[in-house]
Amino acid sequence: MTEHASVRYQPGDEVDFVIVGAGAAGGVVARELSRAGFRIVVLEQGPYLRESDFRHDEIGVSQLHALTNDPRVSPTTFRSNAFETAKERPVLSYGRMVGGGTAHFTGNYWRFHEIDFTEHSKKGAVAGADRDDWPITYAELEPYYTKVEWEIGVSGLAGASPFDPPRSKPYPLPPLPIKPGGVLAERGARKMGWTAFPAPMAILSQPYRGRAACVHCGFCETFGCEMRAKSSTLVSMIPEAEATGKCEIRPLSYVRKVETNDAGRVTGVTYFDARKREVFQRAKAVVLCANGAETPRLLLTSASKRFPDGLANSSGWVGTRLMFNGGGIAGGLFDHEINGYKGVVDSRIIHDFYQLDPKLGIDGGAGIDLRFDFPPIAYAMYGLPLDAPSWGAEYKRLLHECYTRSIYALCHTTSLPVASNSVSLDPTVKDAWGMPAIRMTFSEHQNDLKLYQFMLDRAMELLGAAGAVKRWAHPLDTYWPAVHLLGTCRMGNDPQRSVVDRYHRAHDVPNLFIVDGSSFVTSGRGQPTMTIQALAFRAAENMARMARRGELS
Ligand SMILES: Cc1cc2nc3c(=O)[nH]c(=O)nc-3n(C[C@H](O)[C@H](O)[C@H](O)COP(=O)(O)OP(=O)(O)OC[C@H]3O[C@@H](n4cnc5c(N)ncnc54)[C@H](O)[C@@H]3O)c2cc1C
Ligand code: SF4
Repeated sequence: MTEHASVRYQPGDEVDFVIVGAGAAGGVVARELSRAGFRIVVLEQGPYLRESDFRHDEIGVSQLHALTNDPRVSPTTFRSNAFETAKERPVLSYGRMVGGGTAHFTGNYWRFHEIDFTEHSKKGAVAGADRDDWPITYAELEPYYTKVEWEIGVSGLAGASPFDPPRSKPYPLPPLPIKPGGVLAERGARKMGWTAFPAPMAILSQPYRGRAACVHCGFCETFGCEMRAKSSTLVSMIPEAEATGKCEIRPLSYVRKVETNDAGRVTGVTYFDARKREVFQRAKAVVLCANGAETPRLLLTSASKRFPDGLANSSGWVGTRLMFNGGGIAGGLFDHEINGYKGVVDSRIIHDFYQLDPKLGIDGGAGIDLRFDFPPIAYAMYGLPLDAPSWGAEYKRLLHECYTRSIYALCHTTSLPVASNSVSLDPTVKDAWGMPAIRMTFSEHQNDLKLYQFMLDRAMELLGAAGAVKRWAHPLDTYWPAVHLLGTCRMGNDPQRSVVDRYHRAHDVPNLFIVDGSSFVTSGRGQPTMTIQALAFRAAENMARMARRGELS
């Protein structure tokens, strides 16, 4: 038994639910279903770390992948279209540990707006993209957004943004203190006639439910939080799931196949344990919460005689219509210190471009924040103005001069669902367990490239209005490695155009559920995790209802 485990099941025990992945969604589903009295095993491929394991070790987290998927054992390949041969390249990054991405992320927690659910019917089709409306609305999800804010602990200021959708309750915690970069965002926005408002963050501004408030240690994005102030599922949902005495978290358990019987129902999963031995865990139902890249991969590796094209894939849509959130990045240098390295990454955001003027002829929209997310080594590699030398005395002088005086405007845009953008199985490259590597095929839709450029121009304006003495625009590209992994098992009413129904149940398999970034229909304007967790609360409620009605056994 691990030191954390409150209960231990045997692989031969037929538990009510096996959950694959203990990340943003998996943690919520585990807590909700175990509180509802169900017997749960959560299989997580990564380790179960505590706050005392977290270090301010930049090389450890960024080069040695202490908290994330490690391309040395889990390689990925990339091609920009189906006619190319994919080459090995680290194209995606996610938290590979109990807590998943929430254990090391930045913590920006934006709700989607009404338009994110209905953009297709409101704005019409876009050639070359497979956009649909969601089968649910903002109003239906609103109570679950509120639940996320109160159950995990989100800091923010209700009513501060004139663009925010309606809400039923204020935030449980006031916003985090404004940073100097936030003051500059306010100054720049005011000059431009825009609104910079307090960023809602899944980080505690005050002590909450036995956890300490943020101490602004400054090693936030990509690092674990020693204070338990970052509202990861590691410190919020998972301990509460374990406390029920019904939920076992089984780390270092890498699921390689979801098993089915002749009737086409799921019977459990086969996984590799820490010593690479194969174990079969029986279950009445399986919930995949492995994220927008690993969930489709697992469905594809779960192909069988009955499901030759992969599990839950009669539509052929598993792995397709992959979306991220793109954008542009602009840097600004000021003639005074900003000291952005202190504290959380950002404190003010701008949503004036959430919906663009139709006259622009660009679909979608975006948010912008002014941030500093460079620990020292990353700054030395990528942070300086683009025309700065990369070695020698002048390089050293600039590092010294610029580190405390730089800030970056980051745009977070919509990404259209394109059929050929996908996660599939690489035909030749394998991981350290002998399983096919993820092959990513991706090219931006032309509209999205126009949107990136439009937003990059706004980012440059913002920095100028804030008083930057020098500005530079980073080359337009998707952010690599991709960290918002969305849309690869779309939710929908039509089984020919989606993988799961509006309650996250696979159209093809009645006791299989998919609850993570993969079920997104559209990408939103960045910061998807709030919506992933709202969907997870809603999905768990419905799974419990179905299980009580005996529909899953
Ligand atoms: C540096 C960084 C900063 C970010 N900042 C933000 C932010 O500010 N705001 C925001 O909204 N989002 C942010 N994100 C994205 C956020 O982390 C993800 O959107 C979110 O965690 C996805 O949730 P999920 O439940 O889909 O999957 P995850 O949280 O990725 O959880 C999936 C879990 O499943 C496990 N798993 C996968 N495959 C298997 C398998 N076969 N067997 C067993 N276990 C498996 C993984 O190890 C992982 O723990 C950031 C991401 C990164 C990398
Ligand atoms: S800045 Fe705050 S939330 Fe982030 S890691 Fe440090 S203490 Fe935790």
